[in-house]
Amino acid sequence: MSNFTLASARDALKAKKISSKELTTAYIKAVEAARPLNAYITETPDKALEMAAASDARLAKGEGGALEGLPLAIKDLFCTKGVRTTAGSKILGNFIPPYESTVTANLWKAGAVMLGKTNLDEFAMGSSNETSASGPVFNPWRDGTKKLVPGGSSGGSASAVAGDLCLAATGTDTGGSIRQPAAITGIVGLKPTYGRCSRWGIVAFASSLDQAGPMTKTVRDAAILLGSMASIDPKDSTSTDLPVPDYEKALEGGIKGLRVGIPREYRMDGAPPEIAALWDKGAEWLKAQGAEIVEVSLPHTKYALPTYYIVAPAEASSNLARYDGVRFGHRAKDVKGITDLYEKSRAEGFGLEVQRRILIGTYVLSSGYYDAYYARAQKLRTLIARDFTEAYTQCDVLLTPATPGPAFGLGENSDDPVAMYLNDVFTVTVNLAGLPGLSVPAGLTAGGLPLGLQLIGKAFDEGTLLRAGLALETAANFTHKPANWWSAS
Ligand code: GLN
Repeated sequence: MSNFTLASARDALKAKKISSKELTTAYIKAVEAARPLNAYITETPDKALEMAAASDARLAKGEGGALEGLPLAIKDLFCTKGVRTTAGSKILGNFIPPYESTVTANLWKAGAVMLGKTNLDEFAMGSSNETSASGPVFNPWRDGTKKLVPGGSSGGSASAVAGDLCLAATGTDTGGSIRQPAAITGIVGLKPTYGRCSRWGIVAFASSLDQAGPMTKTVRDAAILLGSMASIDPKDSTSTDLPVPDYEKALEGGIKGLRVGIPREYRMDGAPPEIAALWDKGAEWLKAQGAEIVEVSLPHTKYALPTYYIVAPAEASSNLARYDGVRFGHRAKDVKGITDLYEKSRAEGFGLEVQRRILIGTYVLSSGYYDAYYARAQKLRTLIARDFTEAYTQCDVLLTPATPGPAFGLGENSDDPVAMYLNDVFTVTVNLAGLPGLSVPAGLTAGGLPLGLQLIGKAFDEGTLLRAGLALETAANFTHKPANWWSAS
């Protein structure tokens, strides 16, 4: 629709070339026309226009925050006061939060406009957006006329950014949910360091891994959006008190002398040759701009997926215990007593993938199995984190593929949970180690589908990560756009 980025729309608003009302109205129309993509669960056009009018009034007085008047989409995992927040689940289908998440509160304080809440895998569990109680999301990119998934769990946000149904969106990433959908929809996705953004008011999946981050059209936009999302928050004791740097400024200066590590264990047997070729190309691009390429080793990589799929379900089983049908959310009817109420409400309210995670999580935490599974996974997590610390004595950032392949068809992986979990093979290590990871669109497959490359940074060094991302983006020059098949207009 607009071809605006956050940066260019911000500049156009400041120069009074366009008003927030005009921009917002155009996006509201694009969102309406794109309903076949199912990217939004809840559209909030009235609220958006109200916020846009307030922004225009501030801009007219020469005032306004860093995101003044810019229309955004919010993953439906962030609680928004007075606006239904479902987490993609039937159990929260009627939940209207009485409070606002810290991240979204920060965005509104910076002047952003909310277009609506985007679709996601139920409780952010999934890699295809097929587990949502609101139905699957479609990727704006198709394989011929075959419809594809947008990845997950932030599939609605990815699809909304890739289809230009918002200027940018928020996502959350527990094991890859920002970076994987970003990679396979041809957009930029940044998972910040654990603690960089407050988790307060975000529906919890696995609290030691969850992190909010930006999903945007460009690396510059990711820098801009992160600058407003990040903050220290007394309501989240794991949020950092490090000051929020000027990330846009951090983009300057180039990458001459930057040491880029290539972890040898990420060369997987059986990975499509296109992925390996793109990875090599990425290293060449960075080298051509003055970076030094070094091979490094992350020896415990092969344990990352099993470790993640123990730690994440364990934490989920505990976090999801609160959905009991008593205080809020779905409540079963015709029950006989309290136990029956719990059981029926949870059986009716949770989808199959969420039930599977609760079962696995409860099992690995149960007495007799705790030591064999959960305790060992925690030890491996320490070893995986230590691998990165060791690698960063030899390099400043790491370069890896973002996903093992491009977007796939609906239903293609849903009968086999392990095949679905393999989508996260390059991303979960980053969450286990608490580090920042950035996915940048880098090329197309022979079939014309987007692929991304991932850069991994040192803790709280998003500045260097984004600067390397800009170098990659510049060299890749990914200007491809999906053909608009979803709207008649
Ligand atoms: N795909 C992973 C999972 O299903 C990661 C999800 C996420 O990052 N929220 O758990």
